[in-house]
Amino acid sequence: MNSKSIPNDYENLSWPEVKNIASKKGSTIIWPFGAVEQHGPQLPLATDSIFVDEIVNEVLKLIPEEIPLKKFPTQYFGFSPEHIGFDGTITLSSSLLTNLIVEVGSQLSEIGFDRLILLNGHGGQISLLNTASRELKNIAPDLSIFPCFLWSGVDGLSDLIPESELENGLHASLAETSLMLKMKPELVGDERPCENINAQIPKGWSLEGDAPLAWVTKELSNSGVIGDSRGANEELGHDLKKLLINHWYNMLLSLMSSDWPC
Ligand SMILES: [Zn+2]
Repeated sequence: MNSKSIPNDYENLSWPEVKNIASKKGSTIIWPFGAVEQHGPQLPLATDSIFVDEIVNEVLKLIPEEIPLKKFPTQYFGFSPEHIGFDGTITLSSSLLTNLIVEVGSQLSEIGFDRLILLNGHGGQISLLNTASRELKNIAPDLSIFPCFLWSGVDGLSDLIPESELENGLHASLAETSLMLKMKPELVGDERPCENINAQIPKGWSLEGDAPLAWVTKELSNSGVIGDSRGANEELGHDLKKLLINHWYNMLLSLMSSDWPC
């Protein structure tokens, strides 16, 4: 007889297994969100999706099996209107993505799950996921929802990546090119574009910082890269991957060992 282990992926569970997990106190689903959008000439369209999917997979390997935390299928298509005009970008409308989160999230709540973490790898949909979470909370008041961004709040990140890149949203430049060189080097091309975005932005403002702009890539960058990818290297990618895994492992453990909000 095979002895079956309980998978980390929701879609590989059977219905009695879901029923059992959902009935546990603090049962939680983590739903990774990415995008299918241009990432310069050197990176794949699914860059954000690949990152968030792999980080969650790695973190779940470290979480003890008895903790009721399961992973939803990664949502590849996201909200990417800022990257329209480059072939390959596919965007959902904000209303479609909001409805997806509300419809799926309310069914999870009905099944009996207590928490839903939306771990997002695409900087262009942070506020949309926050808004969708509030809409969902109205419909499913018993569900705790955590919309969070893969690169936010990560201690030590500013030691590895220049402030200007963090403020401009980390798009296809040093951080993302390095991380992909670590995760899937076979998907990284040879080009290393540099686009001097900051020369164009008024002092005190930035693409994703404290005083952001609503921007489209076409106006800022010919290559699609936001910033400078020239220094990208696998060693930096290794450090970034380690930092992200560590951070999200600690965050998930902290949440899963708490009673919040019960
Ligand atoms: Zn990206």
